[in-house]
Amino acid sequence: MDLTFILTDACNLRCRYCYQPAFGQDVMPCDVAVEAMRNAVRHGAERLALTFFGGEPLLEDEALLAILTEARRLENDSGVEVTAKVSTNGTRLSEKFLAHAAEGGLFISLSHDGVKEAHDASRVSVRGEGSFEVVDRALRLLVAHGRPFGVYSVVTPVNVAYLAESREYLWEAGARILVTTLDYTAKWDRPAVRMLRRQYGSAFAGTMRLRRLRAASRNADPGGRRPRCGG
Ligand code: SF4
Repeated sequence: MDLTFILTDACNLRCRYCYQPAFGQDVMPCDVAVEAMRNAVRHGAERLALTFFGGEPLLEDEALLAILTEARRLENDSGVEVTAKVSTNGTRLSEKFLAHAAEGGLFISLSHDGVKEAHDASRVSVRGEGSFEVVDRALRLLVAHGRPFGVYSVVTPVNVAYLAESREYLWEAGARILVTTLDYTAKWDRPAVRMLRRQYGSAFAGTMRLRRLRAASRNADPGGRRPRCGG
């Protein structure tokens, strides 16, 4: 069973494509989440897939970790497998949180739109300032931490010209799970659609180039291959 917990409707960013109609200060009490999980197990759920969402869920990081601890306890007691992920804008990510997240088996999906020009076109603070520097720091923190994580990027008519460059930037920074989505609510005129087509072509060519480079480096270093049985 999938359970999505909207921990808060507050957010410290004001992304120009955000679908949230209003920002408040409402917070979901931990008990609600814990009861929802118990209820699901009581009603025969064979597996729980938890998603922590917002607003910005890391504004309520302590509540998130408390719910995660309860989820692992429930998993232990009931034998029902629990997976957990959080979608974050990265502005509140810290070493301490990452250490707790690793303990609780929390998968982190970071919202990052790529190079500064692409990212700051939409992902701005309450005062309208770009968030690239702080979010990019979060990306470097995740890479240094060494656990798998995802990067989620939104492509709009305003930043589409940077799509291929942004994917390459994120890959070179160390991100390996890249998800790109379009802002379907934006007005995509013909030039923007043409640019999108060109950028998809460039992004595809970039991926193929990376594959060739990796294959070439494997061939140049056959010792790096996995040994055959008995070999
Ligand atoms: S970080 Fe998410 S919730 Fe906050 S403004 Fe941006 S899109 Fe909206």
